[in-house]
Amino acid sequence: MEIDPIWIGLVLAIAVAGLALWWTSVKKPPLPEAKPTPAPVEGPNWTQRLGLGLSRARQDVWGKLLASLGKNDGANEEAEEILYTADLPPALVGELLSALQNTTVRSEAELKNTLATFLKSKLAPHHPAGKLDPLATKQGAGPRVIMIVGVNGAGKTTTVGKLAAKLRAQGSKVLVGACDTFRAAAVDQLQVWCDRAGADMVRAKDGADPSGVAFETVALAQREGHDFCLVDTAGRLHTASGLMDELAKTKRVMAKVDPSFPQEVWLVIDAITGQNALKQAQEFHKSLGLTGLVFTKCDGSAKAGSAVAIVQQLQVPITYIGVGESVDDLQPFSVDEYVSALVGLPQS
Ligand code: GDP
Repeated sequence: MEIDPIWIGLVLAIAVAGLALWWTSVKKPPLPEAKPTPAPVEGPNWTQRLGLGLSRARQDVWGKLLASLGKNDGANEEAEEILYTADLPPALVGELLSALQNTTVRSEAELKNTLATFLKSKLAPHHPAGKLDPLATKQGAGPRVIMIVGVNGAGKTTTVGKLAAKLRAQGSKVLVGACDTFRAAAVDQLQVWCDRAGADMVRAKDGADPSGVAFETVALAQREGHDFCLVDTAGRLHTASGLMDELAKTKRVMAKVDPSFPQEVWLVIDAITGQNALKQAQEFHKSLGLTGLVFTKCDGSAKAGSAVAIVQQLQVPITYIGVGESVDDLQPFSVDEYVSALVGLPQS
């Protein structure tokens, strides 16, 4: 009987395929051994970050003050000098020294408590809400518009980026207006933050009118039902004539879309600025009517005295505090947490 060559070919092909399959299964490299999943590495929590961030201020000023008071058995010239280096205005230095003189202080714990009580008495009246995240809940029907102002380098753009990320993480719909039309790099930086966070952004063209961009941003937020609208602004030196006028115009223009816009105007202050920060803050407040302060870079060599002075003078609360460059390094401000970390008391 003659066998059809097609059949022979077919049988041979099947045999070769089977052989190849067997070979690959035999030669398959062994599966790597399953490694146990490493336990997630927990970074420091906020209390620890705040404590670490404020450690310079704690050691440089408040620690030295405590040492001096202990050594000299009460307030003295050395203590007075140390307080001036903390950027506290003269009136507050005098008040604190007499508070220290009038208190019988027997231990370091008592000294810390006296100091903490004094600082809290200056900050608490302007922060009646305790620790409330100012952006945790949306108020009203339309978008809540927050205008962010401050001098160049204070940390505005980074703050807007961090806030956008936080708001997105809580599930809010966020629109960011990049109105710093003088710095293309700032707009690019903001775009990166927004892309990462999933926030929408209105991107100004170089040299565009900042108030026009702000108008476009809040109108879009209203039309498209955004929950929050963060408006980043330019920040050439506050002494440069024109900046305050330009910011005031930007604010007015937003109100044309809705008279309640912007509901918030927050000044971002580099905490290291020292006494000059008070003058800066006064100018911004006069022109724009600030509703909140954001202190950034408290992890640097900031002494905290100027924060107390500004809150007292302006009677405006600190809304957020920053102690580093990551998103988690910006948190809602709490008087108790801040003062305890500053003087080195355990958090209550
Ligand atoms: P802007 O000019 O006001 O917009 O300032 P930027 O947002 O560009 O910030 C200036 C620099 O400060 C950037 O390098 C930021 O990463 C940095 N920065 C902002 N906030 C903090 C903070 O809380 N701590 C530290 N160490 N750096 C910060």
